[in-house]
Amino acid sequence: MEIISSVTNAIALASRLTKISENIRDAEFNNLLADLSLELAEAKMKMASLIHENAELHEKVNNLEGTLKTKSLHVYKFGLKWDEQFNPICPHCGAHLAAPVFVVQRIRPSISGFNCQGCGRFVSVADEDGSPLRFKAARNQMLSLTAGSTA
Ligand SMILES: [Zn+2]
Repeated sequence: MEIISSVTNAIALASRLTKISENIRDAEFNNLLADLSLELAEAKMKMASLIHENAELHEKVNNLEGTLKTKSLHVYKFGLKWDEQFNPICPHCGAHLAAPVFVVQRIRPSISGFNCQGCGRFVSVADEDGSPLRFKAARNQMLSLTAGSTA
C-alpha cells in the first residue's frame, strides 16, 4: 500500500531527525520530535487497521455482487412477480408471462391474469383488495411506485 510506505518514510525521516537532534540541546525541539514520532507510529497502525477493514468490506461487496448475479430479486405484487424491467413473471414457476387476459363478466367477477406457458396455471392479477386488476393498470402502478421510491 502506497499510503503505508509514505508513513514509513515519514517515520524514517523523524528518526533521522532524532539522531541529528542529539546534538541539539533544545528541549522543546526534542519533545516535539518525540511527539511527531509517536503520532506517525499511531497513524501507521490506524492505517493498517483501515486497510484491513477495507479489504474485508471489499470481500463482502464481492460476495454480495455474486449473490445478486446468481439470485435476482423479483418483487411480488398484484399476484405477480416482476423482473427488473417490470415484466410479469409467474409466481409459481418463474416463467415470463405474455398476453394478459381481461374478461369483464356481468354476473361473476371479472377475470384478469395470464395463462402461464411454463406451468399451465392461470395467474390472476389483482389489487390489494383482491379485486381483478387490468395488467396495464398494475404495471403502471409498479412504474409509479418505483419512480416515487427513487425520487
Ligand atoms: Zn407458471
